[in-house]
Amino acid sequence: MSRVLVTGGAGFLGRHLCARLLAEGHEVLCVDNFYTGTRRNIAEFLNDPNFEVLRHDICFPLYVEVDAIYNLACPASPIHYQHDPVQTVKTSVHGAINVLGLAKRLRARVLQASTSEVYGDPEIHPQTEDYWGHVNPIGPRSCYDEGKRCAETLFFNYHRQHRLRIKVARIFNTYGPYMQQGDGRVVSNFIVQALNNEAITLYGDGTQTRSFCYAGDLIEALVRFVDTPDEVTGPVNLGNPEECSMRALAEQILDLTNSRSPVVHRPLPFDDPRRRRPDITAARTLLDWEPKTGLREGLTQTIEYFDALLAGRSPARRI
Ligand code: NAD
Ligand code: UDP
Ligand code: UDP
Repeated sequence: MSRVLVTGGAGFLGRHLCARLLAEGHEVLCVDNFYTGTRRNIAEFLNDPNFEVLRHDICFPLYVEVDAIYNLACPASPIHYQHDPVQTVKTSVHGAINVLGLAKRLRARVLQASTSEVYGDPEIHPQTEDYWGHVNPIGPRSCYDEGKRCAETLFFNYHRQHRLRIKVARIFNTYGPYMQQGDGRVVSNFIVQALNNEAITLYGDGTQTRSFCYAGDLIEALVRFVDTPDEVTGPVNLGNPEECSMRALAEQILDLTNSRSPVVHRPLPFDDPRRRRPDITAARTLLDWEPKTGLREGLTQTIEYFDALLAGRSPARRI
């Protein structure tokens, strides 16, 4: 058993990670400022003597005692991270400095939740970790993309300069139960729209692609990554290489929900990446990991969750 800090632990991925670490018998300290996360997400852990929550903004120093750190704090959905772009950069950059300073003092392992967005609108496909990316440094997505890129820079500088034990995970689009309703991400938007028989909002012509990883698979990869030997720093792509156009995603969700929703087109957001698919050779080799949940199965679980949520029933907990 060890003491583990999860920043952003009250968010979508954070709450799944807390659940997993508690199930493994760790003590979990969840640090969150509830910017996009909620108390409801972690309500079921509050009576667990191994769980503790601290309301705190990681842009400010944090003095706690832990053995390992997962740094997940950062709004992840475009409408959230673009709402207050300055705060997004501060969370990524000042947050990384504080988390790294903490890890340095404690000599703790530290994982950074980086993102496929470091590749921007990629010119190579699928994306491998040695690709440097194609990011607009001044566009509306740059607060997130460049913030996360700078966080990676800081992680590697602390590693080289202070011999910190770092793990940099480049996470590709992930979905599942506990995604936030109304956070604008495509999977939750389409599912909620389909369940309510409201119009499905397809941006652009719907030919742009993403590769969606189920949350349970992603959490497994994060936990394995932190357990790798010190020389395994990453960056490692974590995602599901099954690529899907947004049109095909809409059709699949309409099919699984038996919905009568029409599909309506809306303008493609500025700088929206055309294609995205991870090359996960490194994750397969270094973590002995690959996703186990296909899109259809994962969407079915996610639809069950939102169906219960919309009906006011207690949603399913498993992933
Ligand atoms: P989320 O928005 O649900 O969770 C982020 C959590 O961080 C929230 O609980 C929020 O309140 C908290 N937070 C934000 N700013 C903070 C601050 N300054 N101090 C303390 N807490 C703060 O997002 P998520 O989908 O769970 O993403 C978690 C992490 O994984 C993020 O770092 C994100 O960039 C990364 N990621 C997610 C995806 C994905 O598809 N979900 C893909 C790539 C990377
Ligand atoms: N820090 C922190 N918790 C700690 C140790 C450091 O939040 O337990 C913060 C500290 O406030 C500093 C940052 O992490 O701003 C970087 O720490 P580092 O030791 O690298 O830098 P220094 O303190 O020398 O500026
Ligand atoms: N998208 C869409 N309809 C929506 C929400 C998103 O067609 O209601 C598209 C969006 O333009 C993008 C893709 O779905 O091409 C994924 O969007 P999301 O915000 O989920 O993730 P990201 O763009 O950060 O990969």
